Amino acid sequence: MSWLRRSPAFFVRCAEIVPSPCCTAKLFVIGSRKRRVIGAAGDKRTLVIRRLRCQECRRIHHELPDFLVPYKHYESGCVEQAASKNATLSVAADESTLFRWRSWLKERTTYWLGCVASLATRFQLEPVRHSSVATQTAHQRIGLVVGDAPGWLARIVRPVANANLWLHTRFAFLSAFP
Ligand SMILES: [Zn+2]
Repeated sequence: MSWLRRSPAFFVRCAEIVPSPCCTAKLFVIGSRKRRVIGAAGDKRTLVIRRLRCQECRRIHHELPDFLVPYKHYESGCVEQAASKNATLSVAADESTLFRWRSWLKERTTYWLGCVASLATRFQLEPVRHSSVATQTAHQRIGLVVGDAPGWLARIVRPVANANLWLHTRFAFLSAFP
């Protein structure tokens, strides 16, 4: 069993007990902001996300619900489905979006796995096992670390984002979405 699956301290949702990603200081709630999310059926919802401030450096963070990926408009389950081999695809997204998600996952997987491996070392947790099989899909590689049951994308994304290791493009950095 991987340490990530029993590591609730990384959940931003439990803001009261989670240290800030920047300084590992206390976070306190200073307000909220709206965030739009698109579900598998193409349904759009608006969420209210809490804004949190780091007590140390005053930097603002946003809560990350466990079905969201930072800067992605679709629920993480949709992105997951597009990447899962043999999955019956029931996501109302066009081919170019699905293609973008797959390339994005492929490109980020090695980085994310490196992040969780270094977090495991930092917190003196059980080391993350890596597979030497290079031909595996992003889903299979990530699944080895956080389990391949639904929710695997959210499970790898959360500790990376919470450790302030999330990489974003210039465009995403300037977008209005947390
Ligand atoms: Zn800080």
